[in-house]
Amino acid sequence: MDQLHPVIKHTFLDTLLRPKRIVFIVNPKAGTNLQKHISSSVEKHLDHRSFTYGIWHTEKAGHAAELARKAQAEGYDIVVAVGGDGSINEVASALLHSDTVLGMIPAGSGNGLAMYLGYGRDIDKAIRKLNTATVKTIDCGRLNGRTFVNLAGIGFDGFVAKQMKGSNWRGFFPYFLKSVKAGLTFTPRICTIETETQTITKKCFVITVANGPMYGYSFQIAPDARLDDGLFSVVIFKDVPRWQYFAAIPSSLKGKIYDAGFVEHFSAKRVKIASDSQNFVHIDGESIELEGDLEFEMVPMALKILVPS
Ligand SMILES: [Mg+2]
Repeated sequence: MDQLHPVIKHTFLDTLLRPKRIVFIVNPKAGTNLQKHISSSVEKHLDHRSFTYGIWHTEKAGHAAELARKAQAEGYDIVVAVGGDGSINEVASALLHSDTVLGMIPAGSGNGLAMYLGYGRDIDKAIRKLNTATVKTIDCGRLNGRTFVNLAGIGFDGFVAKQMKGSNWRGFFPYFLKSVKAGLTFTPRICTIETETQTITKKCFVITVANGPMYGYSFQIAPDARLDDGLFSVVIFKDVPRWQYFAAIPSSLKGKIYDAGFVEHFSAKRVKIASDSQNFVHIDGESIELEGDLEFEMVPMALKILVPS
């Protein structure tokens, strides 16, 4: 009989009742200095009856993904990305198709996904929200084999991402200034967009393939995007006089961008984009260089995340 005891001891209830192991992966260059307060904030606001924790700092590009894989291998239940959409992207890519749950503390410049999920902009409050958050499984996207969680796109937003690359001056104001400047100088490209149901060729200012609905700063590019419906929302800004884009900013903040005359949008599981000359691409807000056609693929129910209740 004694031999059975070890088996009986590790019951499901036992697993449920033990404190969850949580690790915070902090990107010190995420765009604000707030993450420096992360240790005192975690110590003060995390529910220590429910969680035991570690705090790890990234040292180089790509390190967040490496640390997330390490956390997974060491049996952590939750990995929290402390940073912007770029940090979330790295951690999510590492945790795809695993039982390890992704949490997030917004400390970057944009934080489109964290804002949408309701983490808010305040680190202390975001940590308190982790205490009562629930686990949800969401879709992810792939662009030429690279994972994205929130948005990937081509055109103007990729152009802005490229301008922001390597810039230490981050935050709303520089982002806004660079966007205005880019809005005036970016040349729309002729693109052919192919989905499982249609093929469209037109001159495009932006094409966004959305898993989540918003960029940072509450700018809703794809208000109908849902993280768990197995579909992308594809949003195209047609080539129109520039003042029309600027005039549509207030409605985009209210989730009404689809009302603008220059917007075309539809849902798709697969999207292929070819453009007539070199274009600008971003994945979750990070500028990337890709050769040839862009192939977007839906990865349904691929990632477990913590959502504030
Ligand atoms: Mg969706």
